Amino acid sequence: MQKNLSLKLLPSEAASESIIKEYISKSTGVPLSKVTGFYITKSSIDARGKTVWVNLTVHTYINEPFQHRPQLSFDFKNVKKSGRKVIIIGSGPAGLFAALKFLEKNIQPIILERGKDVRARRRDLAALNKEGVLNPESNYCFGEGGAGTYSDGKLYTRSSKRGDINRILNLFAHFGAEENILYEAHPHIGTNKLPHIITAMRKTILDCGGLFFFEKKVVGFEIQRDLISKVITSDGNSFEGDAVILATGHSARDIFQMLQSKKIKIEAKPFALGVRIEHPQELIDKIQYHGKSWEYFKREPFLPPASYSLVEQIKDCGVFSFCMCPGGIIAPASTNENELVVNGWSPSKRNNPYANSGMVVTVEQKHLRAFEKSGELAAMNFQKSVEQKAFQNGGGKYVAPAQRMVDFTSNKISTDLPDCSYLPGTHSASLKNVLPDFIYQSLAEAFKEFGKKMKGYYTNEAIVVATESRTSSPVRIPRSEALLHHPQIKNLYPCGEGAGFAGGIVSAAMDGERLAETIASKLAGV
Ligand SMILES: Cc1cc2nc3c(=O)[nH]c(=O)nc-3n(C[C@H](O)[C@H](O)[C@H](O)COP(=O)(O)OP(=O)(O)OC[C@H]3O[C@@H](n4cnc5c(N)ncnc54)[C@H](O)[C@@H]3O)c2cc1C
Repeated sequence: MQKNLSLKLLPSEAASESIIKEYISKSTGVPLSKVTGFYITKSSIDARGKTVWVNLTVHTYINEPFQHRPQLSFDFKNVKKSGRKVIIIGSGPAGLFAALKFLEKNIQPIILERGKDVRARRRDLAALNKEGVLNPESNYCFGEGGAGTYSDGKLYTRSSKRGDINRILNLFAHFGAEENILYEAHPHIGTNKLPHIITAMRKTILDCGGLFFFEKKVVGFEIQRDLISKVITSDGNSFEGDAVILATGHSARDIFQMLQSKKIKIEAKPFALGVRIEHPQELIDKIQYHGKSWEYFKREPFLPPASYSLVEQIKDCGVFSFCMCPGGIIAPASTNENELVVNGWSPSKRNNPYANSGMVVTVEQKHLRAFEKSGELAAMNFQKSVEQKAFQNGGGKYVAPAQRMVDFTSNKISTDLPDCSYLPGTHSASLKNVLPDFIYQSLAEAFKEFGKKMKGYYTNEAIVVATESRTSSPVRIPRSEALLHHPQIKNLYPCGEGAGFAGGIVSAAMDGERLAETIASKLAGV
């Protein structure tokens, strides 16, 4: 017999296979010896009450041989001689998952990536973190695997209608992610593991006859009537394909500028901008897991480092937490010299002593009046101007301007700053001088409100670091709703986060798959 069961267990119980089996035996009334095995299909933590529970759904085998969790299988074909090829610009999740889908559809993907492979990219990240030297072509946003490679690797998304989330998670597992991503409510992979997964994806693409070019920055298109005939790279080479997927992410400003200069339609898009907040992880654990004593609070070992999600409406501005990284690190995510951007990541174990999160304010058309002359690039140039101020106020070398949280709300320069995970360093400064006034005021109000929702959150133990500005793309590259190509260019497919159709790893991957399916049907004449 096979049965799905829901169990509510203490964290220590949920970590023990034999205890779970005992619960299965108890709740089915079947002797323990007859419970042959189980696998978890859902797992979530419920920390709402005083006792923290783990809710599990388990698929159990009783009195019949246990079978492991069924895995999706993938039919990657050898596409060397397929006779059909598609150029994919950008090897982020959108580009990579499009390429993998093309292998299944017997179409040759040709990936053009401006950055370096994951291993070479790591050296550029070290130079940025340790010496404050930025490589504008190889950094936290640019390079193999895109912005997702050295990220937290959180894999949850709300855009379940846009594609098959389960398939994306199974693909990650197929290429080496741990099985728990298939059932945890908030799965994450971790920065230390993602590069291996991305490398395995590239190996499959190459083994199947796909092509992968690094340090190939696309700078233009040759257009004949309403089709791209050639994709031009900065080294003077050109590439041809049956279609072109443009998956260059939210930070490829030169691509947006190139499209604008060629009068290829783009649109300004609302986005969000703010700061990154960092607290001691023990403090967040204490708040979320209801610890009684700050000094002596230690999370029990079976619980993960706690996270949070906060949202508040301040007058007509939305303020919300973004990309929270428990046990994480604040990272320098700049792509341009003399501009400072921060973001966050965490290792698979989430075992750093800090909890960081973006805290951002929605930026809409009405906030962009000073940038009107930039046309569709107004939001992008607004974003750029704040990043430049952040760089200047940090004092250079990607040192970030920062303030203690209560000092921030009272506009007082902090006399000293708490320890912070941001490796290039922090410099005490007034963030009111960095942020546009509506963002500064909204954040200051919101921090106090958040302190009411999470007692202890509003504290000078927390550090506020500027600026979190790459939350989503400030530009949309439009596409036809039904055929998914650009309205003016029939073989150009804007894709993923940079085009404004995704926000995060899973939704970008799903968008890549969706476009590949659509292109495959078109090429097959379906
Ligand atoms: C530090 C950090 C942490 C993050 N953490 C998470 C997280 O935990 N969970 C989550 O869901 N999301 C996270 N994100 C966001 C996530 O990484 C992105 O949403 C996702 O990667 C977008 O995928 P994409 O393929 O659309 O674009 P990208 O991943 O941005 O990929 C675009 C690619 O295009 C390349 N490119 C750009 N211009 C050109 C050009 N002209 N020619 C050739 N190639 C070009 C770039 O080098 C890049 O590789 C994080 C981002 C960062 C920076």
